[in-house]
Amino acid sequence: MILIENVKFLVGENLKEGNILIDGNKIVAIGDAKDKSDFVIDAKDLVAIPGLFNCHTHSAMTLFRGYAEDMPLQEWLEKKIWPAEMRLNEKVVYLASKLACVEMLKTGTVFFNDMYFFPSATARAVEETGIRACLSSAFFDFFNSEILEANMKRVEKELKELKNFEVLRAIAPHAVYTVSIEGLKRSVEIAEKENVFIHFHLAETEKEVVEFKKKHGKGIVKALDEIDFLSPRLFCAHSVWLDKEEIALLGKRGVNAIHCPTSNMKLSVGKVMNFPEMRKSGVNVLLGTDGAASNNSLNMFNEMKFCALLQKFYYGAESFRAFEAFRISTENAGRAFRINSGRIEEGWLADLVLLDLKQVHFAPCHDLIANLVYANSTVDTVIVDGKIVVENRYFEGEEKLLEEFSKEVERFFT
Ligand SMILES: [Zn+2]
Repeated sequence: MILIENVKFLVGENLKEGNILIDGNKIVAIGDAKDKSDFVIDAKDLVAIPGLFNCHTHSAMTLFRGYAEDMPLQEWLEKKIWPAEMRLNEKVVYLASKLACVEMLKTGTVFFNDMYFFPSATARAVEETGIRACLSSAFFDFFNSEILEANMKRVEKELKELKNFEVLRAIAPHAVYTVSIEGLKRSVEIAEKENVFIHFHLAETEKEVVEFKKKHGKGIVKALDEIDFLSPRLFCAHSVWLDKEEIALLGKRGVNAIHCPTSNMKLSVGKVMNFPEMRKSGVNVLLGTDGAASNNSLNMFNEMKFCALLQKFYYGAESFRAFEAFRISTENAGRAFRINSGRIEEGWLADLVLLDLKQVHFAPCHDLIANLVYANSTVDTVIVDGKIVVENRYFEGEEKLLEEFSKEVERFFT
């Protein structure tokens, strides 16, 4: 049992004060809860918020943080990222993912939705660090049926291996410019058979959308709908270059769209996700950092800030509230992944972040949510599944991990 005493905490938009009692992996009482707990946190200078969800990332790409700068997407992929990715191995993915898990935990993220290679290596990192994740088996087929067949075998094998870990699973066809329609169809079949999510990049650049239309004579969303690709099990990163009808169809089919504002700005995708239209059409919008190669941070507090700023800059100051950035990073994501995380409520999972209120950059606190989104938050303690994983801003073993990772980075790039 853990008792968090005299803590301010957020329930929806409302700030309350009292105690939070955790038993096992659940919040069992809030308010004036008292107990002879094994562990008491005196939290009078702390505020508890639900842990954040990073809904689109490539965790092992911490390896490429700062490796390829000042390039547009296609050139960045073809000249720098893909050639380096040809040399990936299980060990480097494990260490790079583990570093990412620790970075995310230390910045208040309790769950990430990942798309990368060697998912079992990432799964090991997830289990060892105590974060939650949805891990996917990712593939390209480059419109070649032999490559597709080989990849389908690998994907089925990897999805089976992931069953040995405490993670949610997904299949991840990369995007329409790297995967054939046949490859997308097969993804739906596998997702239904295995009952897993689908993680995908959608309409990131104008080039992707224009070339698809030229090749197929119709828009991407229409083509995806024809093969029953659109459903609540689908998570579409970016979703930038979409018109109103396409957004309406995503809403109708219950698709989740993941806004990645920093990555979109950095890779200069040329447009902003149409959040107002997404909201109107009932699309469940979530938030993600994308990989550290295109961000270069996995800090969801930064991401909430850039999301709100970008939306306001483009659609007007009243178009987007700070709380919305917070909600799409917490309860909306929990709901999409069908887990009871993202709210501080009795019976919900104990996935909590305690922030230090006594910091110069957080004072005064007229509006906690505005401070959370726009000021610098200092994460003091992180609890995932009822276990304390970050304490006094420290993750146990982080120096050793950093040392091992640095050695492996040196080996990889020489
Ligand atoms: Zn991505």
